[in-house]
This record gives sequence, C-alpha cells and structure tokens, in this order.
Amino acid sequence: MTARLVLASNNAKKAAEMTTLLAPLGIEVLPQSAFDIPEADEPHPTFVENALAKARQAAALSGLPALADDSGLCVAALGGLPGVQSARFAGEPKSDVRNNALLVERLAGSPDRRAFFYSVVVLVRHADDPRPLIADGEWHGTILYAPRGANGFGYDPLFFVPELGQTAAELDAQLKNTLSHRGAAMRHLLARLSTEPL
Ligand code: IMP
Repeated sequence: MTARLVLASNNAKKAAEMTTLLAPLGIEVLPQSAFDIPEADEPHPTFVENALAKARQAAALSGLPALADDSGLCVAALGGLPGVQSARFAGEPKSDVRNNALLVERLAGSPDRRAFFYSVVVLVRHADDPRPLIADGEWHGTILYAPRGANGFGYDPLFFVPELGQTAAELDAQLKNTLSHRGAAMRHLLARLSTEPL
C-alpha cells in the first residue's frame, strides 16, 4: 500500500513546491485542506517550534503522518526581521504586496542589503511522535530597491541572487527548488527518509 502524508500548509504555492520536492519518495501527498484542517497558530519565536506545531496539528486532525515547513526571510540590517513574522510583516490580512512594500520602505537608505531565506521542515509520524524528523536550509542573497519578476511568491521579487543576476521571482520553479532554502531542507529530509521510511 502506498504511504500517505499530509502537507500542513495552506499556502498553495509553497505546497506546490513541496509536493514537487516529495515526488521522488513515491508517497501520496495530501494537502491539509482535504481534511478541512485550518491554519495552525504560529505563536512561537523560532521557526522550528512553529513548524512542529503545524505538523502536530495536521497529524492529530488527519490521523496520518504530517509534514510542515516554517520559513521566512531574515534581513541583516533589520536584525533578522521579518523572520518568523515574514508572512504577516505588514499586518493582517496577509499580503505579499504590502509585505514587500514595507520591506523596501524599512531598508530605504540602508547600504547593507544582505538577507537570507530560512526553512525548517518537520515530519511527525503521528501527533505524539517523540522523535520528529527535522531538517533545515538557507538561501543567501540581497534585497533590491524595487521588485522584479512574476514567478514564485512572498519576497521572491525582492530577493536577488548575485550568482545568477536574477531575483527568485525571475527563476523557473525547477531552478528555484534546486537553489532554495526549502529545496535544501527537503533534500536533507528525503535523505533521512531513504534510510528510515515512513
Ligand atoms: P509561513 O507560511 O508561516 O512559513 O510563512 C512563510 C513566509 O515567509 C511566506 O509567507 C513568505 O512571506 C516568506 N517566504 C518563505 N519562503 C519563501 C520563498 O521561498 N520565497 C519568498 N518568500 C518566502
């Protein structure tokens, strides 16, 4: 029987990236929306705690193993902000356009444009799993003065990848997955799963 896994994300574009990255495993990946699972609260100050909370909720409500990612952008000149607040940097309701505008505004006049994306992925086999599988990844770049590109989501249009001379939003999905924080975290997780299958 094919193993099944619930993906604890309501962000369709992020879920699409993760589903692609999980394809080599040959397991059935179900979005948590298929179980009417709401977005989990993310009250914690660290990415890993928030990812664990999301994975645990999805496993508890679906009865299946669950995988969650918590991720964000850490900007050097802002002391690591927006960090765990990345999705809601400009407040509610969540808006990529307003988040990007606020980031440009907060960095106006700053010569230090360094930033990195961070992703941590957490897989729980069941809600009370005492030994979740955890992997993380980073992607370093700089923040532009104005958005460029139409692919991806979130801060991709402002995130410039110096090695390529392009923003993350100018890359196709496959190249982004090869380079990104989430791609790196998922490859580490897949390596673990190849020796410890679900
Ligand atoms: P989460 O869903 O709570 O993990 O929020 C992640 C937020 O971080 C997203 O809403 C984006 O604002 C930002 N983010 C995370 N990964 C990426 C990415 O790959 N590209 C652009 N923005 C990202």
